[in-house]
Amino acid sequence: MNRKTVALVAHDHKKAELLEWVKTHIECMRVCDLVATGTTGGLIADNTGLTVERYNSGPLGGDQQIGALIAEGRLDALIFFWDPLNPAPHDPDVKALLRLCSVWNVPVACSSATADLMITSPLFFSTDYVRLKPEY
Ligand code: PGA
Repeated sequence: MNRKTVALVAHDHKKAELLEWVKTHIECMRVCDLVATGTTGGLIADNTGLTVERYNSGPLGGDQQIGALIAEGRLDALIFFWDPLNPAPHDPDVKALLRLCSVWNVPVACSSATADLMITSPLFFSTDYVRLKPEY
Protein backbone atom coordinates (compact mmCIF):
# COMPACT_ATOMS: atom_id res chain seq x y z
CA MET A 1 0.00 0.00 0.00
CA ASN A 2 1.09 3.48 -0.86
CA ARG A 3 1.10 5.69 2.25
CA LYS A 4 -0.53 9.04 1.60
CA THR A 5 -0.39 12.41 3.27
CA VAL A 6 -3.91 13.76 3.57
CA ALA A 7 -4.94 17.20 4.83
CA LEU A 8 -8.22 17.67 6.69
CA VAL A 9 -9.84 21.09 6.99
CA ALA A 10 -13.39 22.02 7.95
CA HIS A 11 -15.02 25.34 8.63
CA ASP A 12 -16.90 25.63 11.90
CA HIS A 13 -20.36 24.66 10.61
CA LYS A 14 -18.85 21.68 8.77
CA LYS A 15 -16.62 20.29 11.51
CA ALA A 16 -19.18 17.78 12.83
CA GLU A 17 -19.70 16.49 9.30
CA LEU A 18 -15.97 16.03 8.75
CA LEU A 19 -15.58 14.26 12.10
CA GLU A 20 -18.35 11.82 11.13
CA TRP A 21 -16.71 11.31 7.74
CA VAL A 22 -13.36 10.53 9.36
CA LYS A 23 -15.01 8.04 11.74
CA THR A 24 -16.73 6.34 8.79
CA HIS A 25 -13.39 5.96 7.00
CA ILE A 26 -11.25 5.41 10.08
CA GLU A 27 -9.40 2.38 8.69
CA CYS A 28 -8.30 4.38 5.65
CA MET A 29 -7.38 7.31 7.88
CA ARG A 30 -5.19 5.07 10.07
CA VAL A 31 -2.92 4.27 7.13
CA CYS A 32 -2.54 7.91 6.10
CA ASP A 33 -0.30 10.60 7.49
CA LEU A 34 -2.82 13.22 8.55
CA VAL A 35 -2.30 16.95 8.73
CA ALA A 36 -4.94 19.54 9.55
CA THR A 37 -5.64 23.11 10.45
CA GLY A 38 -5.52 23.69 14.20
CA THR A 39 -9.08 23.39 15.43
CA THR A 40 -10.09 20.72 12.93
CA GLY A 41 -7.03 18.66 13.81
CA GLY A 42 -7.66 18.93 17.54
CA LEU A 43 -11.27 17.85 17.15
CA ILE A 44 -10.32 14.82 15.07
CA ALA A 45 -7.42 13.77 17.28
CA ASP A 46 -9.48 14.11 20.49
CA ASN A 47 -12.46 12.19 19.14
CA THR A 48 -10.78 9.41 17.19
CA GLY A 49 -7.34 8.85 18.72
CA LEU A 50 -5.78 9.38 15.31
CA THR A 51 -2.43 11.12 15.15
CA VAL A 52 -2.84 14.44 13.37
CA GLU A 53 -0.11 16.96 12.71
CA ARG A 54 -1.72 20.28 13.45
CA TYR A 55 -0.94 23.60 11.87
CA ASN A 56 -2.27 27.04 12.80
CA SER A 57 -5.98 27.60 12.84
CA GLY A 58 -7.25 28.43 9.35
CA PRO A 59 -7.85 32.14 9.92
CA LEU A 60 -4.38 32.41 11.47
CA GLY A 61 -2.49 30.98 8.52
CA GLY A 62 -3.25 27.25 8.69
CA ASP A 63 -4.71 27.17 5.18
CA GLN A 64 -1.54 28.78 3.90
CA GLN A 65 0.63 26.25 5.74
CA ILE A 66 -1.27 23.46 3.99
CA GLY A 67 -0.90 25.38 0.74
CA ALA A 68 2.86 25.37 1.32
CA LEU A 69 2.80 21.56 1.56
CA ILE A 70 1.07 21.48 -1.81
CA ALA A 71 3.58 23.89 -3.35
CA GLU A 72 6.41 21.71 -2.03
CA GLY A 73 4.86 18.55 -3.46
CA ARG A 74 4.30 17.04 -0.02
CA LEU A 75 0.52 16.60 0.00
CA ASP A 76 -1.38 13.81 -1.75
CA ALA A 77 -4.97 14.88 -1.10
CA LEU A 78 -7.03 17.57 0.57
CA ILE A 79 -10.39 17.01 2.20
CA PHE A 80 -11.77 20.48 2.69
CA PHE A 81 -15.32 20.91 3.93
CA TRP A 82 -15.64 24.65 3.45
CA ASP A 83 -18.85 26.39 4.40
CA PRO A 84 -20.85 27.63 1.40
CA LEU A 85 -23.39 29.48 3.58
CA ASN A 86 -21.25 31.67 5.81
CA PRO A 87 -18.53 34.17 4.96
CA ALA A 88 -15.05 33.43 6.32
CA PRO A 89 -12.63 36.17 7.40
CA HIS A 90 -9.87 34.29 5.58
CA ASP A 91 -11.73 33.81 2.32
CA PRO A 92 -8.65 34.81 0.28
CA ASP A 93 -6.72 31.98 1.96
CA VAL A 94 -9.52 29.52 1.20
CA LYS A 95 -9.44 30.51 -2.46
CA ALA A 96 -5.66 30.29 -2.52
CA LEU A 97 -5.71 26.78 -1.07
CA LEU A 98 -8.25 25.57 -3.62
CA ARG A 99 -6.31 27.29 -6.38
CA LEU A 100 -3.08 25.51 -5.45
CA CYS A 101 -4.86 22.16 -5.68
CA SER A 102 -5.67 23.01 -9.28
CA VAL A 103 -2.20 24.38 -9.98
CA TRP A 104 -0.54 21.16 -8.77
CA ASN A 105 -3.27 18.65 -9.68
CA VAL A 106 -3.82 17.62 -6.08
CA PRO A 107 -7.12 15.77 -5.50
CA VAL A 108 -9.47 17.85 -3.36
CA ALA A 109 -12.85 16.86 -1.95
CA CYS A 110 -15.15 19.61 -0.71
CA SER A 111 -18.13 17.42 0.26
CA SER A 112 -18.62 14.09 1.97
CA ALA A 113 -19.90 12.50 -1.25
CA THR A 114 -16.78 13.49 -3.18
CA ALA A 115 -14.57 12.47 -0.27
CA ASP A 116 -16.32 9.06 -0.14
CA LEU A 117 -15.59 8.48 -3.80
CA MET A 118 -12.01 9.71 -3.54
CA ILE A 119 -10.95 7.63 -0.55
CA THR A 120 -12.62 4.44 -1.80
CA SER A 121 -11.20 4.71 -5.30
CA PRO A 122 -8.90 1.74 -6.04
CA LEU A 123 -6.48 4.29 -7.44
CA PHE A 124 -6.15 6.17 -4.16
CA PHE A 125 -3.69 3.81 -2.45
CA SER A 126 -2.48 2.10 -5.61
CA THR A 127 1.23 2.10 -6.31
CA ASP A 128 0.40 1.76 -10.01
CA TYR A 129 -1.37 5.08 -10.22
CA VAL A 130 0.88 8.09 -10.55
CA ARG A 131 -0.84 11.44 -10.47
CA LEU A 132 0.20 13.74 -13.29
CA LYS A 133 2.49 16.40 -11.85
CA PRO A 134 2.31 19.52 -14.02
CA GLU A 135 5.54 21.07 -15.21
CA TYR A 136 5.51 24.82 -15.53
P1 PGA B 1 -9.63 25.48 11.91
O1 PGA B 1 -9.42 26.17 10.53
O2 PGA B 1 -9.51 24.01 11.69
O3 PGA B 1 -8.54 25.99 12.79
O4 PGA B 1 -11.00 25.87 12.38
C1 PGA B 1 -10.21 25.79 9.43
C2 PGA B 1 -10.49 26.97 8.58
O5 PGA B 1 -11.26 27.82 9.02
O6 PGA B 1 -9.94 27.10 7.47
